[in-house]
Amino acid sequence: MILVLNCGSSTLKYRLFDHDRRPVAGGLVEHVTDHAGALRRAADDLDLSRLPLRAVGHRDVHGGTRFRSPTVVDDGVRQGIRELIPLAPLHNPANLAVIEAARALRPDVPHVAVFDTAFHATLPAAAATYALDAELAARYGIRRYGFHGTSHAYVSRRTAELLGRPLAELNTIVLHLGNGASACAVAGGRSVETSMGFTPLEGLVMGSRTGDIDPAVVFHLARVAGLGLADIEDAFEHRGGLRGLCGDNDVRAVAEHAGAGDPAATLALDVYCHRIRKYVGAYHAVLGRLDAIAFTAGVGEHSALVRQRSLAGLEPLGIAVDPARNATGPAERVISHVDSPVTVCVVPTDEERAIADETAALLAG
Ligand code: ADP
Repeated sequence: MILVLNCGSSTLKYRLFDHDRRPVAGGLVEHVTDHAGALRRAADDLDLSRLPLRAVGHRDVHGGTRFRSPTVVDDGVRQGIRELIPLAPLHNPANLAVIEAARALRPDVPHVAVFDTAFHATLPAAAATYALDAELAARYGIRRYGFHGTSHAYVSRRTAELLGRPLAELNTIVLHLGNGASACAVAGGRSVETSMGFTPLEGLVMGSRTGDIDPAVVFHLARVAGLGLADIEDAFEHRGGLRGLCGDNDVRAVAEHAGAGDPAATLALDVYCHRIRKYVGAYHAVLGRLDAIAFTAGVGEHSALVRQRSLAGLEPLGIAVDPARNATGPAERVISHVDSPVTVCVVPTDEERAIADETAALLAG
């Protein structure tokens, strides 16, 4: 059995897989402030000390440039994750606390760290580099890392399977639209461009994060509005995005209010979908030839409206969504017209499953 621990900044998801990689148990601890305590609750629920485990797979948010693939945790790796705390001040300490607590409870099995950033280790320098003073950037590790990598990797693989085409030949744009949201251009199974950068703040409009914004807004808010850094960070991270635009961060509510004619919700949805469309066009250009677009995560899997609005009018780029296929069907399906040159699909992500797969693959050597 493989136990997967997916630790967010305020949640702990856990899932247990049998040797055929079928989920046999799991749960979610929410509103977590004490991550080690949350793990102990999960451990009680699973009777962890007595499980016939092969390994524990841990989701880790930030692997920096050091961790480019899943890695068995030893004291050196633990120290490496600790040194990356400045790059992920909310997530890496929580990840570490869970790793420590889990290792203490099950020191007899390997613990594997699977990094959100690792899939983007293949970003070409042209995509990973900010046009910042090169010495300053090098000294502080400032570059584009990208996130949601486990999901982008899994969904691009599943998309190739759904289309019955070899992954190595497929150029895909994955749109992971959850509370956090990011786009990824995948060429032959390799990430070549992604919308989150140094942190998960860059790129698409999110539930409560701004995504792309002119960095000079920071200077203006400091100089003219007199805001401190913590207030500006809060405005960008927690009071921006859909919530900032219309007071609600859930796409279901935003769509409902927009449908009822609420102007703020209507604008919020327009900004959200416009940003996605802009990235689709840009990544089409980056990839040169585009075979598939895959929507995933809460919004991507469930909002036909967002899918339709984001890709409307892109027929000249070879992208034609079929309204009936988009509206309903199995969770995993093609939603483009039969004659659309680019295949558009919905592919549910499964981060825990992907982490279990990567953990098993590493241990199998
Ligand atoms: P996380 O990034 O926290 O893992 P999810 O991938 O679960 O988030 O996505 C959560 C978001 O998905 C919710 O905030 C909500 O906006 C959206 N969502 C879930 N179900 C629907 C639905 N039926 N229609 C539109 N949006 C939905």
